[in-house]
Amino acid sequence: MLPENISSPKIVVVGSLNVDLVVQVERFARPGETLPAKGFQTFIGGKGFNQGIAAARQGGAVSIVGRVGDDQFGVMLREVAAREGIGAERLIVTAGVSSGVALIAVDDAAENAIMYVAGANGKVTPEDVIAAESLIRSADLVLAQLEIPLQAVMKAAELAKAAGVTMMLVPAPARPLPAELLRNVDVIVANREEVSMVLDEATYEPETDARRLLAKGPHTVVVTLGGRGALAVRAGQPTLSVPAFPVEAVDTTGAGDAFSGGLAVALAAKLPLDQALRRAAACGALACTVMGAEPSLPQRAAVDELLRKHASA
Ligand code: ADP
Repeated sequence: MLPENISSPKIVVVGSLNVDLVVQVERFARPGETLPAKGFQTFIGGKGFNQGIAAARQGGAVSIVGRVGDDQFGVMLREVAAREGIGAERLIVTAGVSSGVALIAVDDAAENAIMYVAGANGKVTPEDVIAAESLIRSADLVLAQLEIPLQAVMKAAELAKAAGVTMMLVPAPARPLPAELLRNVDVIVANREEVSMVLDEATYEPETDARRLLAKGPHTVVVTLGGRGALAVRAGQPTLSVPAFPVEAVDTTGAGDAFSGGLAVALAAKLPLDQALRRAAACGALACTVMGAEPSLPQRAAVDELLRKHASA
């Protein structure tokens, strides 16, 4: 459990915010065709915002650095940030640009077709990050992903490194990472595909590729393995493995974001790595028990309860 006296570690997320518009259809419409759809739902998303919400629900004092558009979705995203207690003083409203939006159609075979608009997420600049420097300097941990321009992520890592603040990167969507960025990152959290995709020369064996990444700068690399839990490597130390908590999984969407947000809070609170991984795995497991991403990100009490249940088992 998180020590009581450091219950609100400061986390700054530099990342994306999205609104997902999901339409349920029997089949996808052909070009020029109009089809009646079966239903429509709106979801909050963006890996940055999801992980920020996940961290806030685990007791982190979270601020988000990013951009929304000057549209209704931007208003909605700011409202959600306020509801979750996430600081939005460095969340910039961008004139003349839409918010990040994903248009998602899901058919009866559960296939999906997605059109993604980066919108304001694509407008985040290194200068936006510099404007948040005092926030970053006073943070316990900075958390970034790759759904905003790489230059902005690199600036966040550079400022965190200079200030001696832990820099955590979730390299998703995965792409090869510049050496300069890797040198400024302390912790990488990736799933088994991502950990290989960020390397120029990968073996596609998660543990081997995690150790290859270690040699490029980070002191800790964590690989999530879905229903098989997660592993973590540190230089000169044996590999740590954490099993998945047995849960009735209904939808694994959001598990990775729940895991990363939970791990960020636990590491920012200076928990030892094995305990931090257990908390993160509990967050990931609980996220699998609820449909959707944001609605599935667990509250701290539920995580504490799952950990208690398994501690005494
Ligand atoms: P991503 O969604 O990013 O690919 P994973 O699928 O690896 O991430 O899931 C992240 C973490 O969530 C895993 O490391 C694990 O701890 C937990 N998790 C994922 N799937 C399950 C599952 N079916 N049962 C229990 N825990 C799970």
